[in-house]
Amino acid sequence: MRRVPFLAGNWKMHKGPKETKEFIVELFAAIAKDTSLKGFLKENKVELGIFPPFVSLETAGREVASADISLSLGAQNMHWEDSGAFTGEIAGKMLMEVGCKYVILGHSERRHIFGESDETIGKKMNKALEIGLKPVLCVGETLEERDEGITETVVKRQLEEALRSLREHENIKDNIVIAYEPVWAIGTGRKASDEDAQSVCAYIRKFIEERFGSTAAEGIRILYGGSVKPDNAKGLMEQKDIDGALIGGASLDVGSFLEISRNT
Ligand code: PGA
Repeated sequence: MRRVPFLAGNWKMHKGPKETKEFIVELFAAIAKDTSLKGFLKENKVELGIFPPFVSLETAGREVASADISLSLGAQNMHWEDSGAFTGEIAGKMLMEVGCKYVILGHSERRHIFGESDETIGKKMNKALEIGLKPVLCVGETLEERDEGITETVVKRQLEEALRSLREHENIKDNIVIAYEPVWAIGTGRKASDEDAQSVCAYIRKFIEERFGSTAAEGIRILYGGSVKPDNAKGLMEQKDIDGALIGGASLDVGSFLEISRNT
């Protein structure tokens, strides 16, 4: 089964509406000049996505909707309810209203800085799928956990909790993306080796096969994230079970984001 590679730019807390618009204008101009990338996007052979901060999503949504180049839009988090007394929170339906197709859930910065638990991530997964927003579920171990040799145990627990109430008949392969992001590789310049990243992504695919069957496992896209840069993307993208990348720092610059995209 052919899986469409997905290059997703997680902007974190960077770029307000003005800079977001500038980025998208520059990105579309660069793609317009690159006939091979433009063709790949048109033929759905590769997917590019950006995940700006909440306040920039509406601007991004407008730019994306009026363009003839396809660029997917996603948010970096959401709440698990549709509305209510949750000061400072944003509902998934609000994200869809401004053009989001995806939402990142369970990013390690949410887990470790803001104390998000496997349980709340599970509730968010259920809500996103219920309303038709596609989660990019992040999993990954800390350095201590890697040193202890429990990477697979940690990833398994995170997957089990996040996917607990999903059923086999749900369209896992088209509606969920999983990103393996070792915590020690995020923002550190220390990317996991291609072999280690492949090995954990293969483990994730095996987990999906055991839990949801082979169609789901063969179709689901599994990304690697953590210090992906233009000069280290190619080896990763050649791995059998890696279907793209969740890119932080290097996605903030049009040139490096596109250079990574050309390596798929
Ligand atoms: P990085 O971030 O590419 O800057 O390491 C990746 C991420 O947090 O998704």
